Amino acid sequence: MMIGSKIKGAVSELGDRHVQQMLLLPFTLPFSVRNFVCERPSFGEVKAELQQALETREQRFLDLVRNCVYSVPESPYKKLLDHAGCELGDIASALDKSGLEGTLKQLARAGVYLTPAEYKGRQDVKRGRLSFRAHAGDFTPPRQFGATSGVIKSSGSTGRPSANVTSFAWWRVEALAIASFLDAHNLYTSRVAAYEPILGSMAAGIRFATIAARLGIPVDRCFVRPTPANNWLESLYFRLTTYEIALAARWFGPGFAWPELISAEHIDRIVRWIEKSRKEGRATCIRSVASNAVRIARAANEIGASLEGCTFISSGEPTTPAKRRAIESAGGAVAVVWGYVPIGTIAFGCAKPAYDDEMHLSRHSMALIEHPESIDDTSGEALHPLLFTTLYPSAAQLEINVSNGDQAILSERNCGCPMHEAGLTQHVHNVGSFEKLTSEGMAFSIDEIYELLETELPNRFGGDIGDYQLVEEEANDAKNYLTLLVNPGIGPIDDVALLKFLTAALASGSRNKRFMARVWQEAGTLRVRRQAPIASSRGKVLPLRMTAKSSN
Ligand SMILES: [Zn+2]
Repeated sequence: MMIGSKIKGAVSELGDRHVQQMLLLPFTLPFSVRNFVCERPSFGEVKAELQQALETREQRFLDLVRNCVYSVPESPYKKLLDHAGCELGDIASALDKSGLEGTLKQLARAGVYLTPAEYKGRQDVKRGRLSFRAHAGDFTPPRQFGATSGVIKSSGSTGRPSANVTSFAWWRVEALAIASFLDAHNLYTSRVAAYEPILGSMAAGIRFATIAARLGIPVDRCFVRPTPANNWLESLYFRLTTYEIALAARWFGPGFAWPELISAEHIDRIVRWIEKSRKEGRATCIRSVASNAVRIARAANEIGASLEGCTFISSGEPTTPAKRRAIESAGGAVAVVWGYVPIGTIAFGCAKPAYDDEMHLSRHSMALIEHPESIDDTSGEALHPLLFTTLYPSAAQLEINVSNGDQAILSERNCGCPMHEAGLTQHVHNVGSFEKLTSEGMAFSIDEIYELLETELPNRFGGDIGDYQLVEEEANDAKNYLTLLVNPGIGPIDDVALLKFLTAALASGSRNKRFMARVWQEAGTLRVRRQAPIASSRGKVLPLRMTAKSSN
């Protein structure tokens, strides 16, 4: 009973249906993984499946709205479509006439879209006389169509991981684009590894490795970073399911390394593995977040080793020019990917990019448009948030024109890389966020914040590493503040000069950042407070800390 309630507590973010599935998962997982990795489609088969998926996206979208929207009276999308006076037949004829993206743009213009705050239920959805509030469960595809089979945890920047669901059926769809991506970057024959935390059995690293196994690529090493859980039971649960995946993939797949815990001090072991592989004539590729790729590069520089022959598949945060430089200076290469929780990876780095972060969109599984109406900012520049639509009921959430706070430049061009030839013709670059820093994500790379808070501020105003920390806070007036905590031990500081310096530093770099810094300045978002920086659950003083929504 007690254990049951603990499990329930550990997954309190999920609905009852998800709790049930989570409890069943350890029993079903080995079989699901077996089926997933056993199929082992050839590259030709995967290519054909991708082709077919691209040809059926309009039809699948129509099926999806028929089954998961029009037949679900409480669906938020149904309410929006009713308000827009749009019936299923209208969608069918719009698809015929204008294609999927054209239809989605028409729907967005008619008010069928959701902002990040509306989608997360933080704000009422208001369109004319229509007003309602959405809830998290509203977006889970109906049970008979959804195919939930796993739980992921995202580390989040609040310091409190959040749980979400995913499914092997969706991974199967993701695998089609991953195969094309690996082919385009000549990574099919590389030695594959992941370096990620155990944050639930379905976290990016294990997910990528399992998909690689499905594609017949042996997973040579699974480096996992230790991460604390909310309680011992949760920790046990996620370890158990991770090892179950590894065991089943090892048994039934082309080879799958046993996860090995590796602490930050022993990151040089990864460098040694890259070196050893190179000496044996093998290229390597590692799935990891960009900051970790940089850490590996620093470790290589420290021991005088080279990362030549290693490609980092990086995501989770922007791969800034500084990070790219750090990785390339150690001899490594970067192939960027882009995704978001809980949907997964949705765009894959172009092999002949015209921009640092140019990627091909997984347009077989997603539709992506820019909101046709701009959100005017104070500078008069037009901001068009991206609107995401999932095209399979196996996606963790049913999204129709949902903004997650990201913006980017969308384009179509023939880059001449194999992903274009495979039909993934929609490109995306300059991915950034206009919403995240003022809600719960972050738009600034850890590296830049580290540099600012651990070097520039101490050099100029005194103190040392750990004396400054940026904290995002939501005050009683529901307004978000970005507060710079300054350790009182430092002594007197000119707060006005400090604030001015901080604003200028945050504004340096991209156009977006200048814009955001100006918005914050005008809105009084930035402030300084004398208070010792707060340690995270890992015991570290992270330079940027997002407070949980419920606090303050
Ligand atoms: Zn390309």
